[in-house]
Amino acid sequence: MLKGRTAIVTGSTSGIGLGIAQALAARGANVVLNGFGDAAAIEALRAEMESRCGVHVTYDGADLRNAEGCVGLVSRAEAQLGSVDILVNNAGIQYVAPVELFPPERWDEVIALNLCSAFHTIRTALPGMKARRWGRIVNIASAHGLVASADKSAYVAAKHGLLGLTKVVALENAETPITCNAICPGWVLTPLVQKQIEARAADEGVPVEQARIEPAEREAALSPLHHARADRRDDGLPVFAGGR
Ligand code: NAD
Repeated sequence: MLKGRTAIVTGSTSGIGLGIAQALAARGANVVLNGFGDAAAIEALRAEMESRCGVHVTYDGADLRNAEGCVGLVSRAEAQLGSVDILVNNAGIQYVAPVELFPPERWDEVIALNLCSAFHTIRTALPGMKARRWGRIVNIASAHGLVASADKSAYVAAKHGLLGLTKVVALENAETPITCNAICPGWVLTPLVQKQIEARAADEGVPVEQARIEPAEREAALSPLHHARADRRDDGLPVFAGGR
């Protein structure tokens, strides 16, 4: 179905991004993996996806907390694989602290990766998509793009910003065959969430099992301050449709 298309999935060495990369490869897209991790494990993953799916799979370890990393990732993919047709902005990190105790350098880091990286990859990939008259941009936001939770100021601000960016890019390309959409997952047990559970268990002196975080959507439903509306698909993932 996606044979001949090339997809970049940022932050695809684990969790949601890895799942997306594997699904795209299984449908015939060439895939660029990105993210951090053990070099040998990433190479094994890359080689396995390539042989199982019969597509090209490359790995680029660009650090997307800075503009150069983002521009380089897209530029190298275009040079090596010929095009970037599908761009999934998924890489993200979390840091949890009350706003007055939130370290400014952590704020900068969360905003840089969870929001600014999408701006830089999109602005670099769009000219090629426009020239080829086809493109799909998917930004992985969060339920926290729609509602707030205490102690997550940078993450919530970045994800709200990512939804705004998605809408602008969709509008600017509404008359072209390029779409830009965002997905707002609820709680998914990945390394990102596991770290929060372990930190909470340590803070509260309770076993890890007891420290499991309630789904963000349930937090939202419980708080009268946090009402937000989103269109919902049948699988429960709120989606902001920015394109067609
Ligand atoms: P994860 O920790 O499993 O994966 C994050 C990925 O980003 C990894 O591949 C990691 O190596 C990569 N990464 C980290 N720093 C990077 C950097 N500087 N440059 C490039 N890559 C970097 O997390 P996940 O839970 O799969 O989250 C993926 C996305 O989904 C994030 O944007 C997250 O905000 C979003 N999300 C997750 C949940 C959840 O419950 N897990 C819910 C809603 C939204």
